[in-house]
Amino acid sequence: MAGVLPNSAGVEHKPAKRRKLTLDDYEQGVLAADMGILSRAITLVESNHPAHEALAQQLLTRILPQTGNSIRVGITGVPGVGKSTLIESLGCQLCELGHRVAILAVDPSSSVTGGSILGDKTRMQNLAHQPNAYIRPSPSGGSLGGVGRKSRETMLLCEAAGYDVILVETVGVGQNEITVRSMVDFFLLVMLAGAGDELQGMKKGVIEIADLLAVNKADGDNVNHAKLASTEYNRVLQFLQPATPGWKTRCTTCSALAPATLAALWEVVETFIAATRESGAMAARRKHQSIEWMHAMIEEELRHRFFRNPRVKQLLPQFEQQVANQTLPAATAVRRIMEGL
Ligand code: GDP
Repeated sequence: MAGVLPNSAGVEHKPAKRRKLTLDDYEQGVLAADMGILSRAITLVESNHPAHEALAQQLLTRILPQTGNSIRVGITGVPGVGKSTLIESLGCQLCELGHRVAILAVDPSSSVTGGSILGDKTRMQNLAHQPNAYIRPSPSGGSLGGVGRKSRETMLLCEAAGYDVILVETVGVGQNEITVRSMVDFFLLVMLAGAGDELQGMKKGVIEIADLLAVNKADGDNVNHAKLASTEYNRVLQFLQPATPGWKTRCTTCSALAPATLAALWEVVETFIAATRESGAMAARRKHQSIEWMHAMIEEELRHRFFRNPRVKQLLPQFEQQVANQTLPAATAVRRIMEGL
């Protein structure tokens, strides 16, 4: 692999000078699971440069037939709940079982503040040394929609490179759970016991999109606490609509200090995948997700084109003023702007 340092640790290394890759180089490198080229291909899809975007789309078109062969799992929870520790431990177990595991992060904070709640590269040192693991820091730049798009395309590249488990981590701080839910098969919500807000409405929305709830850090003095919280969640779950048709969302307990609990957690994922493959729910969800994704991008593109339009730029201020002064209903203003295009 010319121009890229050998890499067994699953974390990319940047060589001093890199050869420009052709579309063929990218395609062959990704399909051959060359980690250096995979990393560069991901950088390409993350780029906002028009020339890179065009090349990235050509690459995605080529590799698309080789995608879709993984179990896609989203993992969310508030900062400090133990997500990265759990993912590291679970990821190592899965690698030992022969899986190839890619860990992606959807972290809108990195694009908004320039910092990252997920912390990226300093985390998961053990997993980073597994040759079968690939950890990709969260993309930066762009709106949350943009971050979601990049993560989705990154996921496809990882699948084409033969990763059969994709773990998508996100922080439980709002809209980003929805973004991740819309790109994965299975969604895990990690929680803590005794946080005081178990049954409050703020979490209900997230609980409703989860396929499994796990009360984490169920170890030491906290075991009983965690079990009680889990029982309470299970009681509540009976009254909620499950996120996946035909699947009963449940709550369990786990701890990174007790590897068997993580193995049990993964068993739930496997049972879910087998059941939804059999019922067709998984294929149906993926199709729906792809179409939804396309629609979301159409909306984004339309919005961009609309606000970039010179006539809109010209018309907008006067209509804004009329709406603000209550001399024109907003809907009438919209219609007139549209008619003026
Ligand atoms: P994240 O922000 O959700 O990714 O949380 P981290 O994985 O960084 O963990 C936050 C803190 O909780 C760290 O100090 C971890 O050592 C600790 N922690 C994580 N998992 C467990 C666990 O299963 N049991 C206990 N007792 N502590 C844990």
